[in-house]
Amino acid sequence: MKHSYSEYVLQCLVCDRSYQPHEVSYYCPHCKTDGALDALYDYSTLKREWSRDTLVHDHARGMWRYDRLMPLRSTQFIPPLLVGNTPLYSRPELLGRGARIKVYIKDESRQPIGSLKDRASALAVAHAMQSGARTVAVASTGNAASALAGMSASLGLHNVIYLPKSAPREKLAQMQGYGAEIVLVDGQYDEAFEQCLNACETHGWYNRTTGINSYMSEGKKTVAFEMCEQLNWQVPDLVFVPVGNGCILGSVYKGFFDLLQMGWIERIPRLIGVQAEHSNFMYRAWRSDRPMQQIERIAPTSLASSINVALPRDRLKAMRAVTASGGEFICVSDPSIVSAASRLAASTGVFPEAGAASAFAGLLKYAEAHPDTPQTAVILITGSGLKDTSIFLSNSTRGQTRVQSQPLADLLT
Ligand SMILES: *Cc1c(COP(=O)(O)O)cnc(C)c1O
Ligand SMILES: [Zn+2]
Repeated sequence: MKHSYSEYVLQCLVCDRSYQPHEVSYYCPHCKTDGALDALYDYSTLKREWSRDTLVHDHARGMWRYDRLMPLRSTQFIPPLLVGNTPLYSRPELLGRGARIKVYIKDESRQPIGSLKDRASALAVAHAMQSGARTVAVASTGNAASALAGMSASLGLHNVIYLPKSAPREKLAQMQGYGAEIVLVDGQYDEAFEQCLNACETHGWYNRTTGINSYMSEGKKTVAFEMCEQLNWQVPDLVFVPVGNGCILGSVYKGFFDLLQMGWIERIPRLIGVQAEHSNFMYRAWRSDRPMQQIERIAPTSLASSINVALPRDRLKAMRAVTASGGEFICVSDPSIVSAASRLAASTGVFPEAGAASAFAGLLKYAEAHPDTPQTAVILITGSGLKDTSIFLSNSTRGQTRVQSQPLADLLT
């Protein structure tokens, strides 16, 4: 099979300078780590050579079916695990019979390592090996790291993980199993971020970390491509996306943006970024008149660990996603996330981790405020509940466990 990769330039979101791929590594050399880059393709040429109908329907290739809109030179280092092709379930009555918002669920819990991060880490290892890297590293709240550890394992690539001590055990178990080198950091994600950055600069490792590595959006955007294809190129009105660092939100926007340039879709849906009340920098920045540099960083304390960050590292792309799509940010409480997770699991069989369930909590809040507008909405369920089971073992779930001769709490300790 012929795989043809495309030319692209990298353009800085802050200063608009453009670079050839070989001129930069991860971010704009002029704006430093603030300068997130967009990979921009030669859409007019691509349009002539490639159409929706000639898109390869070889599902064994997963997200790599869209390779002509991906920033790689060769297929040589693509990891053998199947990434992408996740289901889009139509659940029009999820909000109740007669509800005006018809719901679709994009189920990323079905990824090989269990979260949407697999899309980015798959691209990261391929890009790292193409660049000749021997070691890849990442700072993560858990999923980016387990994804990197698994993708690296599939290629035999050495990897170093920086992780807050509080990261869920299940994710740690994955990394251990995959044979990663793990540094448990005394502190939150933001501390792990700094340590990883320093180590990569010292040792010359490839840094997969979100907000440093602008390429990560190019992997994650494939989720938007799949959504459009699964909806027969009729875009929904709304897409609900959980937001921690803001990379997924920015990437979903980039996916729709690319397809709009290609003429494969006619508009970009309104993107709704959902944040947890105790980790809501983007929400506060969006509501404020002040520039983002002046928004206060508050120590994050949400139980939804995968969206628990003080300073979103992909804030520029995330803010652009919401403003350019005419969307909004919504903020939801931890109890509403837990109850949304349990409701989604019990009413659909899709089993989300807390971070992922925040998208559904956001939809519930939105639907309450807009009960009368007929719309279609996709909720992006970004990761599996098996990656952080604690919320389902608390009292607020709907299940009923009977334990003979012993309280449930004893059994679980
Ligand atoms: C990482 C992650 C998020 C948030 O993505 P960001 O790019 O950090 O905003 C949401 N849900 C899950 C399951 C994640 O792993
Ligand atoms: Zn710049």
